[in-house]
This record gives sequence, structure tokens and C-alpha cells, in this order.
Amino acid sequence: MTVKSFALEQNLWCRIENAVKQRLEEKVVDALLQRLAVVPIKSSRATRTLGIYVFTAEEPVCIRLQFAQSTESLQQTLLHEVAHVCDHLSHQPKKVQRRGHGRNWQAWAVALGILPLRCGESAELAQLHRTRLKPVAVCQKCGFVLRRIRRLNRRDDYIHSSCGGRLKTL
Ligand SMILES: [Zn+2]
Ligand SMILES: [Zn+2]
Repeated sequence: MTVKSFALEQNLWCRIENAVKQRLEEKVVDALLQRLAVVPIKSSRATRTLGIYVFTAEEPVCIRLQFAQSTESLQQTLLHEVAHVCDHLSHQPKKVQRRGHGRNWQAWAVALGILPLRCGESAELAQLHRTRLKPVAVCQKCGFVLRRIRRLNRRDDYIHSSCGGRLKTL
């Protein structure tokens, strides 16, 4: 799956084309759209981030999306990451690139019709995170059960910070 195939499926490719036409000189529009179109979309299992744009200095690598979100939220996340790709691909080569959610990214976000906000944590994602938590240790002093996504390393010693008791790994 690529940005173009996924955006077409979500009826968002026209919106992306229009944003690029709106923001760039005509002669560079096609080149950027061609590079953007083939950026792979991969599934992310992260429970704290909805999406991430992976890139090197020169090239986009991929967009990773957490697919466990509502269609509405997934589309917003796709456009948020597409704004990062456009920001990356449209900057002047010799200019120092402002990474993250700077002015140029915000202008792309507005052109793509999304709010120029940082990727926030959604309620759905918080729920997903909670349901993945497993009990991993019990405090020997107060009985507190520690829940995490990953198990603790059994060879390490862990202390329950709020009471000072030893955590026994499960
Ligand atoms: Zn972002
Ligand atoms: Zn304790």
C-alpha cells in the first residue's frame, strides 16, 4: 500500500493534489506528487502514536499508521503525516530544515484541511493502550499491581516508587 493507493481508497487523493497545487509552483507540482504517491504505508503497532513519518535526510522511507482508530481519526492522521512528507520534500535543499511542526508544516496542514496541531493522543488510542496492559509485578509491601505492555526483566530488581516496597515480577 502507498500514500496514493490508500488516499484514493479514502477519497483523499484529490484533496492532497489540490493542496500541492495550491502551495507549489506549477512546474514542481508533478514531481512532488510523484514522490509522495509512492511513499509506502505500513501498519504500526504503537499504542502511543497514531502515525509517524519515517525519513532520511534525502528520501521518505514510509508512513506508519495505527489502524486501530476510527475512519475519521485515521484520515486526519494520514493527512497529518502527508503534511510532514510535503514539508520534507518541498524544502529548499540548502536551507536548514525545520523539523517537526514548524511554520511550513502548519501551512501544509492548513492546505490539506486539517487543524495544524501536533499529533495528540486520542481517547481511542488511550483505550487501546489500556487493554494491552498486563499485570507484570506485585509490590511485596502494599500489594500494588504494576501493569505494562511489556514484561519486566526478571533478573532486575524493581522498587515500587510510591511505597518503597520490592516489586516481585510475575
Ligand atoms: Zn506530526
Ligand atoms: Zn508498594
